[in-house]
Amino acid sequence: MGLVLRLVETGVEGMVRSVDVLEIVRPGDLGDLGDLGLSLVDGKRLMAQVQQAVVAAQGRDHAARRPTCRFCTVPCQVKDYRPRRIATVFGQVTLRLPRFRCAKCGGAEDGVGWPAHCRSTPELDRLRAQLSALLPYRVTAGLLEHFLPVDAGIHSETVRRCTLRVGEGLREVIPAEPEASAAAITLTLDSTFIRSGEDDQRHLEVRLGNVETSDGTRQVFAAVAKTDTAIAALIRRSLAEVGQTKNTGLTAFTDGGSGLRSILVNAGITAPPLLDWFHVAMRLRHAETTADSLTADALERERAKAVIVAEVDRLRWRIWNGRAKDAKVTLERIRSVNQRRRHLFRRSVEAEFSW
Ligand SMILES: [Zn+2]
Repeated sequence: MGLVLRLVETGVEGMVRSVDVLEIVRPGDLGDLGDLGLSLVDGKRLMAQVQQAVVAAQGRDHAARRPTCRFCTVPCQVKDYRPRRIATVFGQVTLRLPRFRCAKCGGAEDGVGWPAHCRSTPELDRLRAQLSALLPYRVTAGLLEHFLPVDAGIHSETVRRCTLRVGEGLREVIPAEPEASAAAITLTLDSTFIRSGEDDQRHLEVRLGNVETSDGTRQVFAAVAKTDTAIAALIRRSLAEVGQTKNTGLTAFTDGGSGLRSILVNAGITAPPLLDWFHVAMRLRHAETTADSLTADALERERAKAVIVAEVDRLRWRIWNGRAKDAKVTLERIRSVNQRRRHLFRRSVEAEFSW
């Protein structure tokens, strides 16, 4: 079974221009499920061929335009054509781009507002950067090659350079105007260490977090410590983008450390942050381990240990279920039992020495 994909150009006065893009040959017998429809390879080829045909038509239209000379305000003429190769999401396209010249003053006009020395479309740049933010460069390159007919600009080193360039650009962008002002915003800020790819540094400290409004509008931010990316500026910008105003209620969560706290203060968030559940759980785990390892050599201290172990368990349940007041009571009890236990310990040591 054979099909021909033909593109018919519309809007051309007095003539119909069409081009046969590709012939599709698939088995007419559906005995094998694998023969159903187009394959990924067919689809990639189809998109690449259509893309090249669309670009060729755009190139013809573009050459027929006559940009106006910026000095004489008369239409320019085509001076010559320059071949260009541009990588797109649907494959690398080649086109002849005209350069224009004013017949009156001889001034040159490009006729395009493309960035200098560009070799790929903004869409491909964004896609490479977006995937690279989630995956290693090499995996990104492999993924693009697998699903799309991209045949240029997908070497892992090119993907890396492109991602860093897009990142640089993002830093300079003016914050987007929020759609609505936010009544309440939750901000979380945490830090982590990742292995550095540079030889002179073993680890990179990364500060990251997100701001989220009650209606689910969300912005994420991250910056490597000791670089020229100012995390406080990123936080202020993220808050502005989700619609922070003077009346917005803001709740911040951190790991409870002073480092992240001072970052928040630099970003203008002076109210004390809360400990997020992950770090509460970490501290509870630490308390459990400590309680389990308490010495229980004498009967009284054995009893004290049993109380502490039980109370720590209760503390977890109470915090998890939002019983803040009860949790505070439990905490007080743990403190006082522990003080008593330590006092007992001191007394037994003193007794040993006086003996
Ligand atoms: Zn001119």
